[in-house]
Amino acid sequence: MVTTDAPCIGVLALQGDVSEHVRAIEAAGGRALEVRDADGLERVHGLVIPGGESTTVGMLLTRFALLEPLRRRIERGLPVYGTCTGLILLSRAIDDGLEGQPHLGCLDVRVRRNGYGRQLQSFEADIEMRLGGDVPAVVRAVFIRAPKIVATGGAVEVLAWHDGVAVAVRQGSLLATSFHPELTRDCRVHALFVEMCRAAVPISS
Ligand code: GLN
Repeated sequence: MVTTDAPCIGVLALQGDVSEHVRAIEAAGGRALEVRDADGLERVHGLVIPGGESTTVGMLLTRFALLEPLRRRIERGLPVYGTCTGLILLSRAIDDGLEGQPHLGCLDVRVRRNGYGRQLQSFEADIEMRLGGDVPAVVRAVFIRAPKIVATGGAVEVLAWHDGVAVAVRQGSLLATSFHPELTRDCRVHALFVEMCRAAVPISS
């Protein structure tokens, strides 16, 4: 249920599956706001970067003058949840990206774009994910031309694995999954992010 003290969570709305994230955030108890410019970015307590095409979103972040303001807000502690393309944009290093592909580079992981293969190799799997409870939750994970996490730094906590590969990670206020929980009716991953945003909201706001 969305309450007036619910954190306001932006969904970067330059390209990708924006409406699915808006629905999942609201189902998880957050207030969702589509963010397209720096003014919108200033109004949110957290931001979701949806799936889409990382080269396009990176280019649009630059064109809409959002890349540097977003990086600065992340450095000041803004919680960000990246799914798929969002994971790529957050990552420190991208294999098989375009030369000079704009990205944020604040999550200490290396990803390989399309590391699970092309569209036809898209798949779903049940994975166990640590969502804060005593036991891991079973989550249906949808992988679509997903990036593969090929290395993680020491500050990165792996929340879920699939076939020995990290598929959900957290580093402080950053959360990222190579899969798309917003494409299922299960909003527990978004609920974890809503809680991260709630914890990060200054008491006065
Ligand atoms: N392969 C896409 C990219 O490089 C990501 C796909 C997705 O977000 N579902 O951005």
